[in-house]
Amino acid sequence: MSQELEIIRLRKELSEFSRRAFNRGLVSGTGGNLSVRIPGTDTALITPTGVCLGDIDPEINLLMKIDGTIIENPCGLKPSKETAFHLAVYQLRPEAGAVSHVHPPYATAYSNVVERLPMVTVSAQTVLKEVPRIESAMSGSTELYEYVKAGLRKYPSAKVLLMEEHGILAIAQDLKTSFYLSDLTEDTAKIAFIASQIKVN
Ligand code: 13P
Ligand code: ZN
Repeated sequence: MSQELEIIRLRKELSEFSRRAFNRGLVSGTGGNLSVRIPGTDTALITPTGVCLGDIDPEINLLMKIDGTIIENPCGLKPSKETAFHLAVYQLRPEAGAVSHVHPPYATAYSNVVERLPMVTVSAQTVLKEVPRIESAMSGSTELYEYVKAGLRKYPSAKVLLMEEHGILAIAQDLKTSFYLSDLTEDTAKIAFIASQIKVN
């Protein structure tokens, strides 16, 4: 497939998985942002800032170099305010093909109280292995970008990071897998919470 066609295909896929993340309840309002690398290149598509993930159309996504230069911006929107940490993932993890940042309620609640998400199911232990936490900072801040970079270095094999008082960051080879990781992380947090409430007499 030509690179032009590949970009068109990935614009559609970014729209599809943004909508799936919203419809699945992994994020609310205008929260969250997703990106995907154009395979074999140092460029990535990223969702714009301030648009509900449930409303992402293929053409509103921005094509950027991983050094931060905008290459294609058909609708003239601003890129996500978390663009810097998405691009840092592609720079620090050459194998990364997609990044999902969402705010799922149970996982986010755990991010407020634990340093690691409890791996309470065999699926979590097998697929996620560990979900460690990075520190809290304002959305879109340089501080948060630095905390994400520090987390990527400190936990080189973690596929998902908890972001304190904020949400999660899931990194995978493609968008579908980063969506599955986000979904599994939220379900793991939900099961951990339910298990913690069950009293046996
Ligand atoms: P954007 O709308 O700029 O992508 O920000 C949403 C978000 O989740 C910030 O952390
Ligand atoms: Zn966020």
